[in-house]
Parts: sequence; structure tokens; C-alpha cells
Amino acid sequence: MPTVPAYAVTSLTSPVTLSTIERRAPGPTDVVIQIAWAGICHTDIHMSRGDWGEPPYPLTVGHEIVGWVTETGSAVTKHAVGDRVGVGCMVNSCRECENCVAGLEQYCLAGPINTYNSVDRDGSITQGGYSTHIVVDEHFVLSIPEAIPFEKAAPLLCAGITTYSPLRHWNVGPGSKVAIVGVGGLGHMGVKIGHALGAEVTALSQGTSKRDDSLEFGAEHFYATRDSETFEKLANYFDLIVNTVSSQIDLNAYLGLLRLDGTIVSVGAPPGPIPVTLFTLMANRRSFASSSVGGIRETQEMLDFCADHGITPEVEIIAANEINQAWDRLLAGDVRYRFVIDISTIGT
Ligand code: NAP
Ligand code: ZN
Repeated sequence: MPTVPAYAVTSLTSPVTLSTIERRAPGPTDVVIQIAWAGICHTDIHMSRGDWGEPPYPLTVGHEIVGWVTETGSAVTKHAVGDRVGVGCMVNSCRECENCVAGLEQYCLAGPINTYNSVDRDGSITQGGYSTHIVVDEHFVLSIPEAIPFEKAAPLLCAGITTYSPLRHWNVGPGSKVAIVGVGGLGHMGVKIGHALGAEVTALSQGTSKRDDSLEFGAEHFYATRDSETFEKLANYFDLIVNTVSSQIDLNAYLGLLRLDGTIVSVGAPPGPIPVTLFTLMANRRSFASSSVGGIRETQEMLDFCADHGITPEVEIIAANEINQAWDRLLAGDVRYRFVIDISTIGT
């Protein structure tokens, strides 16, 4: 500290290469974390490759972070040296607006400070978890329950909370008919969590290769969306559809699968506007919604829920020098179901 090794992209097309970043010296409420594992979220690629606009380079991404506390500021009370902790998509917010006060820091009216590519309090650009250490205000640091194997915990910090939050917000439970569209990093967690909440979960995937896995994760039904009959069979069926797809899909076709007052929540964030036909919403008084990660209180609730229910992400561990291949494989749909970087391999 404050200079630490990190993998970064330096342009829209550059590979992810080993470099260094600056971490601030810990302030009174900061926790210094030695990162053990970092998940690879599709957002890392969207952001690095400019899908939502060109970011400032060099940029280190990664917002599924777990590690050990190595140092605490003088006023820290929530965490102690040696604790197993996690950091997700946010590292700060204003803490004063009505959304922050309600524990919904992801909807901070001043804008949350995201774990990477946000302007931090000191004016610097935040840098993410593909690095050996991170310094974060204790409020935004989560406790990782002992029951969750450490190397599997990281994806919960984004994929886990991003699916848990809408499932909880739309009151999913016994009797709910829920579809999860896209069985990727987020989607496979959506299936597991939806099932644990007691819902009847249907997995909707492009082909049939993820059928057996989906049923094992707790889906009661599985349908391939390449089969047009799927959309006839399931018309007017679901209370809630959580769309996790990273590319544009014909959401109007999926809207037709909602029963009266049903809602589709699109957490997948492809570039470009999403065309939705008003008349498809009007029929059956359907709603089109979206949702962003989850607040800090809810993220801790999700971690404890996963520990209590024995829910863990399916991970493939990679060394840090395999990040580029992992990104290519993720874009090709060749991952079951989340890559996790062994951060101890950085620089080795
Ligand atoms: P991922 O692992 O790549 O999963 C996306 C899945 O979508 C794939 O596994 C695939 O599932 C399906 N898919 C991909 N391309 C498709 C296409 N052209 N047509 C139909 N289906 C396709 O990605 P992820 O990490 O889960 O992230 C998913 C999306 O959520 C990304 O856009 C990401 O930025 C966004 N995200 C949003 C939030 C939020 O707060 N709202 C948080 C995290 C991530 P099948 O093989 O089963 O079809
Ligand atoms: Zn993410």
C-alpha cells in the first residue's frame, strides 16, 4: 500500500494486463482488505469494452470481491483484522438521502459510488477487485458467513444480490410462478434463490444444454427459448419474470408470458434502448421494471440466507493470467456458471 498490483484494461480493445493501481491510506472508518477471490461479472466486460460509453482508462474492474481484513481505521467497529469479508458493486453513497436512509444505497439520489469507474470522494476514479487489496468504508463491507466456502462466496456479492433483491421486492414465495431468463452467472443464482424462497421456478435458456443443471439448481420446469412453441405453451403463466440476459432479446415475446398484474424485471443490461410494446403491457395490466443490485442491509441478508439454505454459486477457478481467455469464454457462453479469479496468483 498504497500502490498494489492489479489487472487493468488500457483501451476499448486492449487485453487485461498486469499493472499497478493506487489505494488510499485507510481513513478512520476504512477497512483494508487483502483480496482472496474475485468473480468475473458480465458487467466487467460491458464496462471495459465501452458497451455503455467509453470509461476512463486504465481501468481495473471486478465487483465480486472477498478477502481478509488486514487493517482497520481507528473508528471501525463492524469488522476486525482477520475477518472474512466481501465487497460488492458499491463502495460508498451519500448516506443522507431518503433512499440511503432506507438502506437502499444502490438508489442513492446523489448516485452511489460504484466499486469501479466512479468518482470517489477524493476525486479519483474507483478501481475494482482484479487486484490484491482494496480500501473500503466499513459500512460497505459485508461479513461472509463461515458456512459459505470462501472460493465460492465472491459471486454472491453481485450475481447473488442482483437476483435476490427483485425476488424479495416482488414478494416471491410459495405459490409464485417465476421465470428466470438466461442461465448464466446471475441466472443460475436466480434459479437457486427463487427455489429456496419456495417459488415454482422455470428456467428459460436459449438451447437445451443447461436443462439438467437447471433442474438440479431447483428449477421445476425448463424450456428452450429457441423453440417457438415455448412462447405458446407458457402464455399468460408467470407472476414474475427476471430477465438476466446480457444481449438484446425480444422482450415483448416474454411479456406475453405474464399473467394478470405480472411483472418482468430486466436486470440484464444490454447496450441500447429496449423497445416495449404498450399494448402488450396493457393486456393483462403487465409491468415492465428493472432493478439494481441491492442495498447493504439486504446484501448481508442474502449472504445469511444463502448460508442458511446451503446455496453456493457454481464456480470455475482461474489464475489471474487467464482473465483474457475467461472473458472470451464468457462472451461465447462457455462458463458453468461463474469464473472466479484466484487473486493469490497475481504476479506469480
Ligand atoms: P452471463 O453469465 O454472460 O449470463 C448471461 C446469460 O444470458 C447467458 O448465460 C445466456 O444464458 C444468456 N444470453 C447471452 N446472450 C444471449 C442472447 N444473444 N440471446 C439470448 N440469451 C442470451 O452474464 P451475467 O454476469 O449473468 O450478467 C447478465 C447481465 O446482467 C449483464 O448484462 C450484466 O451487465 C447485468 N447485470 C446487471 C446488474 C444490475 O444491477 N441490474 C448487476 C449485475 C449484472 P442461456 O445460455 O441460458 O441462454
Ligand atoms: Zn456484476
